[in-house]
Amino acid sequence: MTAFDTHCSSLTRAVLPGHSAEILIKRDDLIHPIVSGNKWRKLKYLIAEATERGCNQLVTFGGAYSNHMVATACAGAVMGIRTACFIRADEAIHNHYLAAARLYGMQLIPVSREDYRQKEQLFDAHFGQQPAAMFIAEGGASAAAARGVAEIITELASAPDWIVHASATATTALGLAQGIAARGLKTRVLSVAVLRNGDEQREKAREAGLDHIIHVNDEHTLGGYAKTSPELMAFIREFIATTGIMIDPVYTGKALFALQQICPEGDILFLHTGGTLGIFSDAYLKQLT
Ligand SMILES: *Cc1c(COP(=O)(O)O)cnc(C)c1O
Repeated sequence: MTAFDTHCSSLTRAVLPGHSAEILIKRDDLIHPIVSGNKWRKLKYLIAEATERGCNQLVTFGGAYSNHMVATACAGAVMGIRTACFIRADEAIHNHYLAAARLYGMQLIPVSREDYRQKEQLFDAHFGQQPAAMFIAEGGASAAAARGVAEIITELASAPDWIVHASATATTALGLAQGIAARGLKTRVLSVAVLRNGDEQREKAREAGLDHIIHVNDEHTLGGYAKTSPELMAFIREFIATTGIMIDPVYTGKALFALQQICPEGDILFLHTGGTLGIFSDAYLKQLT
């Protein structure tokens, strides 16, 4: 048993600001205080594979505000495996994500946006001589990641009509839908795109034969990744103050704000995917507090 085999993720009832209906929230944010819940889910079987293969080095990729980077750094620290992350950056950046990753002992390797696109080449150039180094895709995207996410469905006592969540690469959506299909449930997944890649996400659902379960809504991106509006910020402030649950403008806050406006019929379970560090970025704090 390791810290990556156990976790607690409970259910909380909440009322969205400006609404009367209650929703249930699956608290994957409680899995870890720093690591995003869905990044933990995605890493679970990747870490198991690394341990089985005797890997002593995890190598991954991320932006300077990457929840996946921090999650991988923490996983490595827990498991006693060295970690490194290529950081996409045109200039030197210091923030609390990079600080957390460093504290967990991760080696950070800043590379230009151009070089960052050639991930296999970067891996080969820096870690090609190390047979025990393992390549982990940006965001942890993989079949193993979807398998970890699918376990969320086995933890539910009853099947809601909708599971709503913040969606970026669609890995979380695919995992949820796989879990739903495996159990033969009627539940559908409402994936709120947090960036303008709705068509890409729909295509992934179609390719996987899961588009009858996954509905991608890309009408609430507010113009793109990490983009906000005064209305979103007001919603987030009120939600946190009235529920005691932290949400962030990039992922869960944006998805909940969209849910407040879409509000599909039926029982709704919102999956809180984590991402708590997101609220503590200077630019957001200035607008919020
Ligand atoms: C990465 C992340 C997501 C998006 O997950 P995908 O599997 O890429 O769609 C959602 N919420 C949080 C908090 C995240 O860190």
